[in-house]
Amino acid sequence: MSKLLYINACFTDDSRTKVLADAVLKKWDGEIEEVKLNDGSIRALTKDQLSKRMQLQETSDFSDEMFKYAKQFASADAIVIAAPYWDMSFPAALKDYIEQVNVCGITFDMNTEGVVTPKCNADRMVYITTAGGKNADLQYGMDYLKALAREFFGITKFNTFKAEGLDIEGADVDSILSETLKRIEKFSFITKTVVPGEENYIVESKDLTKMYGNHAANDKVSLHLREGSIYGLIGRNGAGKSTFMRLLLGMTPINEGEISVFGKTGNEMAKVRNRIGFIIENPTFYNYMSAYQNLKYRAELIGLKDPDSAIKEALQKVGLMNKMKDKVKSFSMGQKQLLGIANAIMGNPELLVLDEPTNGLDPIKIVEIRKMLLDMNANGTTILISSHILGEMGKLCSCYGFILDGKLIKEVTEEEIESEAIDVEEFFVEMAKGGQNG
Ligand code: ATP
Repeated sequence: MSKLLYINACFTDDSRTKVLADAVLKKWDGEIEEVKLNDGSIRALTKDQLSKRMQLQETSDFSDEMFKYAKQFASADAIVIAAPYWDMSFPAALKDYIEQVNVCGITFDMNTEGVVTPKCNADRMVYITTAGGKNADLQYGMDYLKALAREFFGITKFNTFKAEGLDIEGADVDSILSETLKRIEKFSFITKTVVPGEENYIVESKDLTKMYGNHAANDKVSLHLREGSIYGLIGRNGAGKSTFMRLLLGMTPINEGEISVFGKTGNEMAKVRNRIGFIIENPTFYNYMSAYQNLKYRAELIGLKDPDSAIKEALQKVGLMNKMKDKVKSFSMGQKQLLGIANAIMGNPELLVLDEPTNGLDPIKIVEIRKMLLDMNANGTTILISSHILGEMGKLCSCYGFILDGKLIKEVTEEEIESEAIDVEEFFVEMAKGGQNG
């Protein structure tokens, strides 16, 4: 029978960390072996003690007690660690233990050149903690633990669930806890696989490459946008997100590779352009024309059957009905952005391509636009969207592509999101550490 090793270092049974841990453990269908570390042998440290410990890497009082469990580590199929505030000490203790080579031969082998071969059964570690967020020291601790888990235990799947520090503006502790519980709801220890051949991609690119001089703005990008999904394209400034969208829309020529949209490639792509609504970078309008006139221009261009009602519906959806007759030159930046969104959604296109659509919008509008997009998606619109507001992307997207220096380095599918409850922000931060300008 499969076994989960549960390292329980919660101080009390009703702590937030424990609530999260219980929710995760419910997902395990097998034996659970609990190691309790909350009997006083492991203490919470003050912030000062923690930072001193980080500087000195002083961990001896932790490691002896904790790592007599090395054999359990090696035989477990999954490891769940619930550790409240002293999460920096836990990885430090683990490192210390490994350096004393106490687990060598049990959880890993090391040859004379120091090359490590993990021997652990477990392929997944779930780390649950109260603290989290952007605190650099805590982040360091988490990174450390991940690296150790990967190197010394051969663990490739690492999930973290935090009761604090989520990217929710002004959120109180209770709502953070309930958001994290929702993520755990989606989490599964089993990774689902997609049956090959069953995918239905609206956009698919293969080794798509765009050069500007010697610089590859898109470098062999192979992206898969499945029908019905909301795909978040994530990357730092200059990574190549807008370039991909431009290539998709045929706004700029391809240098190498290919892209198909609704099954069409090359010149044929023009035939499906009117099935796509888009906003790329800052939308531009004729300043001396009204909002209505500007939209009418495009409505006619794409051949909408009933342009008048399509325009009014779009303006209604973004909340610009009262500005319908006003000239665009009188619009604020945010209002221009909303008009750009109205322009994109007009006629309810099958595919929406949105490059940072919430740029310059106030927080209330951001929420309204998110709800509108979710509603359109529920009614059949597939969406490709880029944004730097990762918290917002998390509430919207069903899958992601991470782009770094023109390369699409990872696509996270809906299956992975469901089964691994990936934290997009964490993934992005880790990816971005690989270096890039900006
Ligand atoms: P941001 O988040 O800042 O909008 P992005 O991911 O959308 O960035 P792109 O606009 O796709 O990035 O740019 C990718 C790279 O291609 C950048 O290095 C940019 O300077 C370069 N680039 C984009 N358009 C051109 C152009 N017309 N001529 C030359 N270089 C360009």
